[in-house]
Amino acid sequence: MSRLVMKFGGTSVANIERIRNVARHIARERLSGHDIAVVVSAMAGATNQLVGWCEDAAKLYDRREYDAVVASGEQVTAGLLAIVLQEQGIPARSWQGWQIPVLTSNDHGSGRIQHIGATAILDGFAARGEVAVITGFQGLHKESGRIVTLGRGGSDTSAVAVAAALGADRCDIYTDVDGVYTTDPRIVAKARRLDRIAFEEMLEMASLGAKVLHVRSVELAMAHRVKTFVRSSFDDPAQSNQGTLICDEEDIVESHVVTGIAFSRDEAQLTLRRVADSPGVAAAIFMPLAEANINVDMIIQVASEESGVTDLTFTVSAADFERAQTILFQEQKRIGFTSLHGASDVVKVSAIGVGMRSHAGVAARAFKALAEKGINIRAITTSEIKFSVLIEAAYTELAVRTLHSLYGLDKA
Ligand code: ADP
Ligand code: ASP
Ligand code: MG
Repeated sequence: MSRLVMKFGGTSVANIERIRNVARHIARERLSGHDIAVVVSAMAGATNQLVGWCEDAAKLYDRREYDAVVASGEQVTAGLLAIVLQEQGIPARSWQGWQIPVLTSNDHGSGRIQHIGATAILDGFAARGEVAVITGFQGLHKESGRIVTLGRGGSDTSAVAVAAALGADRCDIYTDVDGVYTTDPRIVAKARRLDRIAFEEMLEMASLGAKVLHVRSVELAMAHRVKTFVRSSFDDPAQSNQGTLICDEEDIVESHVVTGIAFSRDEAQLTLRRVADSPGVAAAIFMPLAEANINVDMIIQVASEESGVTDLTFTVSAADFERAQTILFQEQKRIGFTSLHGASDVVKVSAIGVGMRSHAGVAARAFKALAEKGINIRAITTSEIKFSVLIEAAYTELAVRTLHSLYGLDKA
C-alpha cells in the first residue's frame, strides 16, 4: 500500500472543530488507499504562550527545560487528533518524538534530526491499519535522554523527515494558504500561487524569510528526494485540492527570471565609523562575533574621504543585535572605531529565481525601480540565484510590491 505523510500546522489545528476538519482530510486519503502518518503542530498561539512563560520564569533559562516546556504543545494536538479519529471509527494512536524515537542532536532549541525509527509505525500500519499521529517539532537526544525541539516552524522538518524514514510516496504540508506564492499573499494581494517551485528556489525563499516552509524541511526534501506538496487544510476536505509541488528544476515548464520575492524583518544593522583601513581589522571585528556564534550576513565597507579610515556596515539577526553591540564595545580598543550606530528598523527584501543564472542585470533593474520610489538601499548582497537589499522597515510593503510588479509576478 502506498504511504502518505500529512502535516497540519498551528492554524489548521487551532480548535476542536478544526481538528475535526483535519480528520476529514485524513479520512479522504485513507479511503483512497494510503497508509497514513500525520505530523501535527501545536494549536495556533500555543507555542508562543509556552515560550512566553519560559521567558517570564527566568531571563537566562535552562534551554533543556525550555524544550521540555515548548514541546508540550504538540503533545496536546497529537492526543486530541487521535481521539477525534478514533471517534470517527479510524484506528489511530499518538506518538511523541521520544516514543518513536525521533533522535536529534543535542542543540536545544535548534536540534537537527539524525535518525527516525520507522519500525513501530510500519507495524501499526500492517497489523492494525492504524494512523500514526506524530508530534512535530520535537525529538530525543539519546545520550542525555532529554527532549530537544527543532526551532520555530520545525514541524515541517519533522514531517519531511518522517516521510523520508517511512519511504512515503508524498509529504503533504497542509497550512492556511493553498500553496507557495510568488510572495507572502498576506502582504501582496496580487501574489500568484505557483504550481511548482524548484527545491533550490524554495530553499532560498525559506532562508530569506518566507515562513511557509521551515528551511531545514526543504533541505531534507531535496537530499532525500521527498515529493513535498504544500496545500490548504481550509479547502474542501471532500476533494483533493490544488497546491504547490516542490520539485526539480528540470520538471518546471514555465520559467521566469525571478520566481518569488521574500522579506525578513529579523534583521539589524550595525555601522562602525572610522575604522582603521588596514590588514587585520576585519578579523578583529568579525572573529569575536563568530566566537559568540553570531552570524554576520551582509557586509559593506565604504572608504571615507579621510585616508586610512573606513566605515563598515553589516547585518546580524535581530535576536543577536544587543549581544553584538556589547561585544563590539568590549573590543572597541582593539578594533579602533570611533562610534557604533545600530538600527533595528530595517528589513531585507530578496528576489529569487534560477533564471538569474543566465540573465544579466536583474538586480540592477531592482535598484533603479526602488530608487524611483524613493527607497534608499543600505546594503546589497547577490549570489547565483538571488539578490537581497537592506532597506528601512517602513518601506517593506512598497518595496516588495515594486519588485513583484517589476518582474512580472502580479496576477492578472
Ligand atoms: P503553519 O502554522 O501551517 O506552519 P505558517 O504560519 O508557518 O503556517 O506558514 C504559512 C504562512 O506563511 C502563510 O499564512 C503566509 O502568510 C506565510 N508566507 C510567507 N511567504 C509565503 C509565500 N511565498 N507563499 C505562501 N505563504 C507565505
Ligand atoms: N509549534 C512550533 C512553532 O510554533 C512548531 C511548528 O509549528 O512548526 O514554532
Ligand atoms: Mg510553519
